[in-house]
Amino acid sequence: MQELKGKLIADRIKGECLDFVGKYNGILPALAILRVGDKEADIAYERNIKKRFVDFGLEAKDYELPANCTNEEFQEVFDFINNDPDIHGILVMRPLPEHIDEEAMLKKMNPLKDLDGITDANVAGIMRGDKDAFAPCTAQAVVEILKGYNIEMAGKRACIIGRSMVVGKPLSMLLLKENATVTVCHSKTVNIKSVASEADIVVAAIGKAKQISGGYVKEDATVIDVGINVDEQGNLSGDCDWDQIVLKAGAATPVPGGVGTVTTAVLAKHLVDAARLQLNLPEVDDSKDEYIE
Ligand code: NAP
Repeated sequence: MQELKGKLIADRIKGECLDFVGKYNGILPALAILRVGDKEADIAYERNIKKRFVDFGLEAKDYELPANCTNEEFQEVFDFINNDPDIHGILVMRPLPEHIDEEAMLKKMNPLKDLDGITDANVAGIMRGDKDAFAPCTAQAVVEILKGYNIEMAGKRACIIGRSMVVGKPLSMLLLKENATVTVCHSKTVNIKSVASEADIVVAAIGKAKQISGGYVKEDATVIDVGINVDEQGNLSGDCDWDQIVLKAGAATPVPGGVGTVTTAVLAKHLVDAARLQLNLPEVDDSKDEYIE
């Protein structure tokens, strides 16, 4: 079985970002990370982005507010970064506390700065298959892995398990765009095993540790594990039972070291694209993309 390591894909995306920064010397694409409160997972994600962005030649700035900040204070900071021409992308750590008016924020967010595809304009753009719409980074990361490892999507059956707005739903549109035949399963689907085990590509995004066993996987199918689950001992695992998956799949992503690694790289690529679109610059030639055999 081929292990689909995220690092190989992330490194290729890093190269594209460095090419942009090299070509447009003097333009420093900048991301604003907006966080309310101090949830450990948010802080860890933020730290990881800041560290990785240095390697990608990009800037990431923190905007932190205490959990008890008022909605007015939040909206004021948001307006500042949304209107600042030196900030090209915004990542809001969600979910926000309940007293923050997320709808108001989404309505005024500049879609060109919406790197995680949360505004209506980008959701609709992904439905339409627009080239310049931003998809949620995790959904995009799945497609980047499949493309990067040269795994055929056109004409293949794909089964996505999970229908969230962050992963399952946008991914169904991205895979349709690649001409896959897509089925989306969820907690009310009857007999997911029988659906998934007919698929050439299975994507697990349910948030339940090791739920997807070998019985969900057709011989030699490709398995993409989006899940990130942490047990009481602090051990990380995906939604798939890796020990069983390796016996059936032809290729699979590990956790950690799979989709998560590529998600941060996609965020960086989205920032570069956002800067390019906002500054009306042409695309950097990516015809030298190399695919992994
Ligand atoms: P979510 O919003 O909780 O959605 C989970 C989805 O899975 C829902 O559609 C739910 O169905 C479905 N589901 C739950 N249990 C199921 C079961 N036993 N059988 C079938 N379907 C089931 O989760 P999410 O935000 O999409 O995240 C999913 C996983 O991906 C989590 O582990 C999360 O940590 C991880 N994640 C990873 C990254 C990354 O960068 N790698 C990024 C985002 C999320 P219903 O709709 O019917 O409730």
